[in-house]
Parts: sequence; structure tokens; C-alpha cells
Amino acid sequence: MSGLRSLAMTLGLLGASGCALAAGAASSLGGAAAVDGASIIHADRHPGEWLTYGRTYDEQRYSPLTQINDRNVGRLGLAWHYDIPGDRRVQEGTPLIAGGVMYLTTAWSRVVALNAATGKRLWVFHPHVPRSADAHGCCDVGNRGVAIWRGRVYVGTYDGRLIALDAKTGRPLWSVRTADYTKGYTITGAPIVVKGRVIIGNGGGEFATRGYVTAYDARTGKEDWRFYTVPGKPGVRDGAASDAVLARIARPTWHGQYWKYGGGGNVWDAISYDPSSDLLYIGTGNGSPWNGTVRSPGDNLFITSIVALRPQSGHYVWHFQEVPRDVWDYDADQQIILADIRIGGKVRRVLMQAPKDGIFYVLDRTTGRFISGRPYTPINWARGLDSSGRPIENTGRFYDLTGKPTLAMPGAAGGHNWQPMSYDPATGLVYLPVSGMAFTYAAAKRVSLRKLGWNTGDAFTALPENPQVVAQIRKSLTGFLVAWNPATQRAAWSVPLGTPWNGGVVSTAGNLVFQGDSMGRFCAYRATDGRRLWSVETHTGIVAPPVTYEVGGRQYVAVEIGWGGAFALAAGQLALDSQVNEGNVPRLLVFRLGGRQAMPAPPPPPQWMRDPPPPATVSAQAIALGRTKFQSFCSVCHGDSAVSGGVLPDLRYAQALVNPGLWQRIVRGGLLEPGGMVSFAGQLTPREIEAVRDYVIYRANQTQGERAARPY
Ligand code: CA
Repeated sequence: MSGLRSLAMTLGLLGASGCALAAGAASSLGGAAAVDGASIIHADRHPGEWLTYGRTYDEQRYSPLTQINDRNVGRLGLAWHYDIPGDRRVQEGTPLIAGGVMYLTTAWSRVVALNAATGKRLWVFHPHVPRSADAHGCCDVGNRGVAIWRGRVYVGTYDGRLIALDAKTGRPLWSVRTADYTKGYTITGAPIVVKGRVIIGNGGGEFATRGYVTAYDARTGKEDWRFYTVPGKPGVRDGAASDAVLARIARPTWHGQYWKYGGGGNVWDAISYDPSSDLLYIGTGNGSPWNGTVRSPGDNLFITSIVALRPQSGHYVWHFQEVPRDVWDYDADQQIILADIRIGGKVRRVLMQAPKDGIFYVLDRTTGRFISGRPYTPINWARGLDSSGRPIENTGRFYDLTGKPTLAMPGAAGGHNWQPMSYDPATGLVYLPVSGMAFTYAAAKRVSLRKLGWNTGDAFTALPENPQVVAQIRKSLTGFLVAWNPATQRAAWSVPLGTPWNGGVVSTAGNLVFQGDSMGRFCAYRATDGRRLWSVETHTGIVAPPVTYEVGGRQYVAVEIGWGGAFALAAGQLALDSQVNEGNVPRLLVFRLGGRQAMPAPPPPPQWMRDPPPPATVSAQAIALGRTKFQSFCSVCHGDSAVSGGVLPDLRYAQALVNPGLWQRIVRGGLLEPGGMVSFAGQLTPREIEAVRDYVIYRANQTQGERAARPY
């Protein structure tokens, strides 16, 4: 296949037809007003556009454009850039392009419309998400994108609203509260619109929530249906599309007082649609809390599953559970790609997912039946899958059952997280950003429901100050761009990237794969063999997926840069030496052949703290108390063992460290709440807050002069 294609490109066949198609395309689709089901389903008729999150409903993230290809990509240069306003937080957006206008989202759920050829700003919508919402979400304040439908732009906001905007002006037309952030629900995922319904899920699997997905009338915002992914309190009817199936199939797999922690199963990312079978596919998240002994015995349906629904009614059709009774935070929310591929001489209508559990799954997308599954990264929680796709578990590793800490691969950040992969139908390969990073799990001794902070039943104390474990985990930190053959379940090629938590991927008919990485490089690889053909240094870590589009006969490649997310926030001491993002300047970069704009200059070097930290004078007991509380309440934002990953302040260098009164006014009194640092008065006593300060001082002394110091 690839040989044929390169022959065709040598003869100029594909290139010519690609340009001709695209040149007519810009005028054939009349901008956002013309976007509907037909234009998304027939996206290849106007290949210059990017109309829905994964470009098409099948979420392949493959572009038919060929103007930029494996022979000329070396001439790629910056066409223009847009400095994303606001603070230096993660940028995860997939920009959509319709009729020469680009609609992108940024941290804090802002929406920006730009002229896609020049970068000229047309409008900005700022939803004013309260900063305090940050503390009610797990994984940073990113937003992955908008949906477009008949002249409207839809965005889910971090604080749980779904808002419809006028695509021409950015003016809000309607807004509904689809999830309550004060109860631990947040939205980072992009909505999609199917048959006139805007479909949106939410996150919160670490905050004792109960997952659901909701469909709203795209025109009016009226709720159409809701599907809960896990059962609620027995005897309480939801009046939702999920009522019957939860009672019949899911409820018998839960026991005890499971509803107290919500149950989880949150739909925080993957939603795909197959028009031919009229099925909507959702991926569901981990069980809440992670600790299965606290949660419930049984399989706990439908956590960590793919569920197929009818888009008109929300009615259940089938499900496939990947990790029964998940205790690892192995969300199955990762992108679900639909494709028709030849397996064993037969074309199969499949869906493909590479979820956090480390296994690449291929299912029959009509029936939900398991076709194949194989680890795409080393795993130790299971020995493999049985013939039905159910994992054969290593039960000796189950920390909640044994009461002993365990090191699991993949870790809680997953072998692959939300960063999208891409399927190239010409090569038949899936281009997959893989992360290596083990994690140590330890059951909390006492578990009670908290109003603030994570509710996982994991103590997060297995790691600190165990140098062997730290060394072992740091050794596991790596990343790859893997070209995976889903038919044979083997890697065709693999590019080592050195570090985990790299960017999403797009592939193109130009025999190219584009990806940014955590070190700030943006690269083009040859799709057939993984050879790196072009790269540029952006000076800021990249996690967002690139897109490509065409305006006025010219092809562009765009990517948001901006470091952050779950790994960056929480990895702490593990991220040492592996990620350098001191500047972290959020931008949108847009490239074209012959682009001549100079890359923006790197930010000034970080200001290292010169003064030595105050001496650690308190007892080992106070430090131990402080460590327990820090790991439990603070580490997920300020970094494991008080080493920041460069997104939020590194407390070892905080001014308030030398001022116990100021420290109390911040942590207890909520002095910095307008900036997002909420009061922990309900969770920590003054003595515990002081112990946390003691612990951070102790760590500041222990790590003095470490290169990981951040400029905050
Ligand atoms: Ca999760």
C-alpha cells in the first residue's frame, strides 16, 4: 500500500488530485453555518476543513491533504503564531476549521476565533470559570475543543457548563449547567454534535462522582436524554435513559454502600459515532474510589468500559468492559477510532482503543465482540486477556486486597492518556503516543469521604523517600511514538522520545505523521517508516494534537503549545531531568511550506531561589504527619514530595514558608482563593497545616540546589 502511494506521489498523481479537491473545497462549504451531519460524514469532499474533534465522526485524525508531504516537509516554516492570553497552564485544544475560520479553545475553557490564513483575531469568548474550580478537578484546567453545528460553536467549561456561541460573533446564545463543579465534576473534553444533539460528558472519577453523558438540543439547549454509567442509590430512580439497563445488567455487579463514593465511570473524553450502524460509542473512566475494597466487590459495570448507545434516545445497545473492578485508575476514556480493516483476509468493521491499562483493543463495532488485544507497553497488573477479552489478573499485586503497596505498570497516568492517536488508512497503522511511567499504589489506612481533595482511597505515600522505588520509577519514565498495526497487533516501528507525556498525533496523505513532545520539539515523521524528516524547537512542552487544513490553496499545520496536565502537576520528583519547561509560554503555532516568520524567542531563563531555606528544626514525628497530609491533599497539584512539575508554584520556594502566620492565612484562611488556592479549613487542622509547612521546609533543605527548582 505504502509503495503504491509513494509511486503515485512520485508521478504527482495524489498531490495534484489532493490540491484540486482542496482548492474547490473552501468555497464549497459555507463556513460554520454549513456544518451539519452530512458535511461531517462527507468530510473528504472538503478536505481543507476540520469540522469535528477527530476531523470525522470516526475520530481517525487523518487528513487527505498532500500539499505538504514527505518530499517537501523540510521546507516547512512558521506562517504565523498566536500568543494565548492568560496564565501559563496546559493547552490541550484541537482547533476546528470551517470556511477559513479557526475556532480554538485554551486553558480555562476560553474560545478564540481566528482568521485561519493570517491569524487575525475575530473574537474571544471568556466564560469566567471561577479559579476555585481548579481544586475540584484532577488534571489541570485544559480544554480539548469545541463542536460546530449550523452556525453555532459549543464549548464545555471547566466548571460544568455547556455553552452555545454564535460562530460569527462569539456571543453566547444559551448556556446550561450540565455538571456541578462544587460536587467534583469538571469538563475538559470536547462536545460532539450528532443528529442535532450536542453530546457532552464530564470528569470527576477522583472526586466521588457518578459518571454520565448528556444530549442537548443543539438549537435550544433543552436536555434530550442522559445516560448514567454506574447505578445510583438503590430505590432512587433517575428517570434517565440508563434506568432499565442499570437495573438489569449493571446493578447486580455492585455491592455494599457503593453509591457513597459515586462509583465513577466518568465520560471525560472519548465519544465517537458510526453513521452506518447509528451507534454512539462512549469510553468510561475508573471506579470511584480507586480502592476497590472501599468501593464494592464485583465487576462494577460500566466502569472502564466502552458502551454503545443510540444517539436519538441514549438507549443502551452493548458494552465491553476492559478492567473489571478496576483499582488502578485505568480509565477507558481514550479516543475510540472506527475503521474498516482487513484481519485474516476479511474486512472487519472495528473500533480501536489504546486505553490507560496498556492493552490495544480491537472490537467488532457492530456487536461489541472482542477481536483481539495485546499490550502496547509493558504491563504487570495482568498476564494477558482470555478469549473473551477479559484480563487474567495478577491478583498478588492488588494493593487493596493485600494491604501492601505495589508498583504497577502502567501507572495511574496510563500507557496512553487523552493525547489523541491517529489512524492512516493508507498505511493501515495507528500512530500512538505511548508513555512509560510506573506508579506505586498504597491503600489508605482510614478512608472517609472528603468535601475537598481527592477521594481515591489511595494514600499517595508509597513513594516518598524510598530511594529504591524512586529510582525504579524514574527508570520506567520514557515515551515513544509507536506505529501500531491493529491487524497483527504488533508495532511496525517505534521512535523513542526519552520522556513520557508527549503530544497527540495527526497523520496525512502526504505520508506524514506530526507530533509535538514534552521537551518542546514539534516534529514530522515519515508515516511508512518513522524517519524524522523535520523538527522545530518551540521551547515549551507540547501535549496538544496538531491539525492540518487548507485555505486559499495553501495547506497549514497548526498546534497549541503549553505544558501541564495530570503528569506535569503530580509527577513531582519523578519529573526531574526529564522535562524542562521553565518558560511554558502558551501559543498556537501555524506552519506552511516556505513560512518565513521567525520562531518566537525563548522566555528568559528562570530565576533560581538564592536564599537558603529556613532550617528544619521540628521533630521527625511532625514531619511524618506533614508528609502524610501533603501527599494526601497537596501533592496532586504541587507535585509529589513537594517538587513542582513547573505548572503550579513549587512550595519549597514559597515566600510564605518562612512566615507561619501567612502560611495559615493562605491554607486555612483562603487568602489566595482568587488565584485558585482554596481554603483547606474543612479538611486540615491548624496543627496539620503547620506540619505540612514543617514537611515542606524539611524537603526544601533536603533538595536544596536541586536543578528541578522552578521559577515561582
Ligand atoms: Ca481517572
